[in-house]
Amino acid sequence: MRAGLTAALMALIVYAPVRTQMPWDLARCPASTSSGHLCTPEHLDADLALLTAREIRSFLDPEIVAHELLIRRRPIMHFADPEGSIPDPRTDFTLTQLLRAWAESGQLESEAARADSVNPLQPAESVALKRIRKMAVTVEEGYASDDGCRTDGSTLRLAATDRLRGARITVASGDLVTPELSINVTALPIGAAGCAAFVSVTLRDVPYVAPGYRPAPPVISRKLLVDGRFVTSPRSGFRERVAAQVRQSVDMVASRIAP
Ligand SMILES: [Zn+2]
Repeated sequence: MRAGLTAALMALIVYAPVRTQMPWDLARCPASTSSGHLCTPEHLDADLALLTAREIRSFLDPEIVAHELLIRRRPIMHFADPEGSIPDPRTDFTLTQLLRAWAESGQLESEAARADSVNPLQPAESVALKRIRKMAVTVEEGYASDDGCRTDGSTLRLAATDRLRGARITVASGDLVTPELSINVTALPIGAAGCAAFVSVTLRDVPYVAPGYRPAPPVISRKLLVDGRFVTSPRSGFRERVAAQVRQSVDMVASRIAP
């Protein structure tokens, strides 16, 4: 009962910035047939949902937050409360306005155009990746705003392990295995019938402390490879669409390891 009420309140708070239908400022929307960006409310709603989903993912990612805090704690940055200064994209008005402006300006498509010419991997890490023959696979509890845009963790894990085995990479079932491939889906509704998601697949080194030793200083895991993709879909086919994206992203990871 109590949990139901809390969930309902959370839903109200969470939906407010995304669902409040402020009119789009179409004057700020550059028509661009070549990039695929459209100045219709439906397209802008979808772009905003995608940008917001990615921002929520970053906000809930401990590694990204830790990095952000390192920057914000520097005296020169003048943050009186660094921890409290990171805006929650689900509730922060200013951040929401920024994301709306990005959606209007076609940020999503211009990023996609730039990504074509950028290699996300550093050469040194590529070399280290070649030796990986075994990894753990986990599905993180991603953020999803409601039942209509939820995915199923065990299906996604199965999709990932299937592709890795196909690439002759052993999937370990134990806990103390590094590196670890984790799958995270952050999903938001688009209107009444659609879903937007940011699907990320991250390969990371997971440090662990052997039992019996003195407590080690906290170590933040190191990301070896990150693949983040935007997905939009009607509600009805959303799970399948996300699973297909996970397969594609895991194939990309596997191809970097065992080409
Ligand atoms: Zn667009």
